[in-house]
This record gives sequence, structure tokens and C-alpha cells, in this order.
Amino acid sequence: MTNILWVCIINLSVLWGELMNINISKLIFEKTESININFDYDLSNSDLLRDHNIIEVSPINFSGKIYKEEENLFIDGNFSGEASFRCSRCLKEFRKDVFDDIEFDISVDEDENKDDTYLKGEDLNLSVILEEALAFSLPMKILCSEECKGLCFNCGQNLNIDKCNCDEDIIDPRFEKLKDFFSKNEEV
Ligand SMILES: [Zn+2]
Ligand SMILES: [Zn+2]
Repeated sequence: MTNILWVCIINLSVLWGELMNINISKLIFEKTESININFDYDLSNSDLLRDHNIIEVSPINFSGKIYKEEENLFIDGNFSGEASFRCSRCLKEFRKDVFDDIEFDISVDEDENKDDTYLKGEDLNLSVILEEALAFSLPMKILCSEECKGLCFNCGQNLNIDKCNCDEDIIDPRFEKLKDFFSKNEEV
């Protein structure tokens, strides 16, 4: 089967909204050197969105190739797309390109590879590989900018836009109880 046909099959599975499984028996049992992949993956229902403050994500394009060397399977490629995030400090929505290289390898030896998250029999789960690569490319804390000043914890003003009139000495409400505790102790 030609690579072009493979790509058609992969694209069809996108339309059907199925998991991105690629059968790699050609690489294992026949002399096919590599399988080229190029697909757009819809991540809009992924848990990734909730875990990384993502409001919306465009289809993520993944292009690359899968090949086998000895008992290892290699996935080499890159992904790109666009997502809108919510800043975890000021809650503003902002758009950002997402992209990175993917270099992944896995043993095809069943004795060595007990975990079937990525490879189950001859089916390679590209969706989980892509989701993990995307998650790994994102910063731990999603910020609209490194300098984001966040919101005033007292009045909620976005401090990137303007200062507020709150007293700078106002104590964070989360520490209010501690303040009471100290003042009671002082009275004793
Ligand atoms: Zn921000
Ligand atoms: Zn304020």
C-alpha cells in the first residue's frame, strides 16, 4: 500500500472522530521503510483543555514519519496549531501558536513493552503521543505575559490595565483569620 493511501485512511479516521490509531504491521512484517503521516487532529474534546487552561484549540496538524530500526519504532515529526488560553493570573483570554517537534520511540518487543498506552498489538496510538507532546510543550503556568500583574485580590481590578484604589496594606482575605488571631493574642 502506498503512503498516500495510508494518509487517506488516517484522514478518514479524523472525519469519523476516532482515536488516531495507525496499524504498523507493514513496518513490522514487511519491508516498508516508513509510513508518512500528515493529519489534522481535533483535540476539542480532550482532557488536555481543562488541565491547561485552554478555552479553544484549532485542529492540530501533525506531520512526520514512522519507521522501525531493529526492535524500536520511531515517530519523528512536528505539530502546529493555535489555541486560546485563559491567563491563570489575570484570567484574560489570549491566543497563542502551539508547535513543537515530536521525537518518540518505543520498543515493539512485547516482553519489553508491557504498557499498551502507545502500542497495542500492531496499533500505534498517535493521539496519545500527540496529546502528550502538546502538553509537554506548554509552560507549567499559563500566563498572558511573564510580567502579568494579575488581579487585585481585593477589588478584582486587572492591574495590567490600571491601578486600583485599594490600600496596598490591605491584607489578603485568605490571611484575615491569621490577623484576628494575632490581634486577640496581643490583647491578652
Ligand atoms: Zn495575565
Ligand atoms: Zn483593588
